[in-house]
Amino acid sequence: MRSTHPLYTGLPTTIFEVMSRLAIEHDAINLGQGFPDVDGPLEVRQAAADALIEGPNQYPPMMGLPMLREAVARNERRFFGIDREAGDVLITSGATEALSDCLMALVEPGDEVVLFDPSYDCYAPLIRRAGGIPKPVALSPPDWSFRDEALDAAFSEKTKAVLLNNPLNPASKVFSRNELERLATRLRACDAYAICDEVYEHLVFGDAKHVPLATLDGMAERCVRIGSAGKTFSLTGWKVGYVTGPSALIAPITKAHQYTTFTTPPHLQKAVAFGLDLPDRYYQGLAGDLEAKRDRLAGGLEGLGFSTLKAEGSYFLIADIGELGLGSDVEAAQRMTVEAGVTTVPMSAFYQENPPHHLLRFCFCKRDEVLDEAVARLKAWRERGFKAAA
Ligand code: PMP
Ligand code: GLN
Repeated sequence: MRSTHPLYTGLPTTIFEVMSRLAIEHDAINLGQGFPDVDGPLEVRQAAADALIEGPNQYPPMMGLPMLREAVARNERRFFGIDREAGDVLITSGATEALSDCLMALVEPGDEVVLFDPSYDCYAPLIRRAGGIPKPVALSPPDWSFRDEALDAAFSEKTKAVLLNNPLNPASKVFSRNELERLATRLRACDAYAICDEVYEHLVFGDAKHVPLATLDGMAERCVRIGSAGKTFSLTGWKVGYVTGPSALIAPITKAHQYTTFTTPPHLQKAVAFGLDLPDRYYQGLAGDLEAKRDRLAGGLEGLGFSTLKAEGSYFLIADIGELGLGSDVEAAQRMTVEAGVTTVPMSAFYQENPPHHLLRFCFCKRDEVLDEAVARLKAWRERGFKAAA
C-alpha cells in the first residue's frame, strides 16, 4: 500500500474525542470536551426549524446568506466598534473550517506562524499541513503571562502570521490591551498577519473586557477575526462560523472555503442571523450564567483541595492537582474518569513544548445539578483516598 500523508498518519485522535469516549465507556460526568448540556435559545432553534420547513434548502451563496453577513458585521460593530461591511464577511461551517481556510490561504511553505502555548489542539497540525512552522510562545500560569523576550525569540523575518485565540481556550485568559499592543508592535515590525480566533468573544466574565486585536491602531488591515455561532448561542453542533477581515485577505480565504465546504446549511444561517441581533440582555445573560457556573464549580473544587486558576472567559476552569498525588495530568484524568466518574482534559494535550503535568481542564457550561454531582463524586473519591469504589 502507498503511504498516506505522514502528518495525519502519525497524529493521535483529538483529546476531546478520546476523553468523551472514555466518559461514555465509564458512565462518567463529562466535564472534558467543551459543550453546554442545555441547548441555546428556543427562538433561535425555532427560526432554524421554520427556515428548514419553509426552504429553500438549496445551496446558499458561497460566501454566506447576505442577511447573515450583514448581521455579523452589525454584531461586530455593536459590541466591539469594528467597522466592516457585509462584503468583508465570509460564512463558514464552523470556526474550525474558518481556521483551516485562513491557514491554507495565508501560509506558504516555510512560513513561520507564532502561536501561544497552550493553544487549541488543531492549531499546530493545521499550520504544519499548510507548510508552515509553528513557533510557540510560552504562557506562564497562574496568570498566563508572557515575556517580551519570548515574543522576540518567536518572531523573525520568516513570520507570516500570529494565530491568537482570545479569550484563550484552554487557559481562560483574556489578553489585556497592553499584551495585545506588545503583540501588535511585533506584527508591524515583521509585516505579519494575525488570525484571531475569537469564538469566545461573548463569553467574558466580571471586569475582564475582550479587546479584539483588530481594533488596535493599524491592525484592522492585518487581522482576520473568527467567530462561532456554536459558542455564542450554546449550539456547538451547528457548526456555523464566520471570518471577517480586509478584502485583500478575505478573497484568498474564500478560495480555500470554496473547495473545502463551499457553503453552510441555509436554515442555520438564517437562524444565526436572527440570533446575532438579539438584544444586549441575551448576551449579558449568557455571560452571567456562565460566570455563576464557573464560580459554582470553582467553589466546589476549592472545597476539595483542588486549587483553581483565574478564569476570565470561555467554558473552562483549570485546576492544579499537583499536590494531590494523582500522578501526571494524563494519569489523573484517566483515573478520575474510571475511579471517580468525572472526566476532564489533561492540560498537557494543548502544548507544543514543555507541557505542565499538574493541571486539568474542567468544562463548567453544565447544569448546576451536574456540576454539583461532579463535585460530590470527587468528594467521595477523595474520601476513599483517591481509589475506585469497592
Ligand atoms: N477555536 C476554539 C478556541 C475552540 O475552542 C473551538 C471549539 N469549539 C473552535 C475553534 C471550533 O469551533 P466550531 O465548533 O465552530 O468549529
Ligand atoms: N472546543 C471544544 C473544547 O475545547 C471541543 C471541540 C471539539 O471537540 N472539536 O473542548
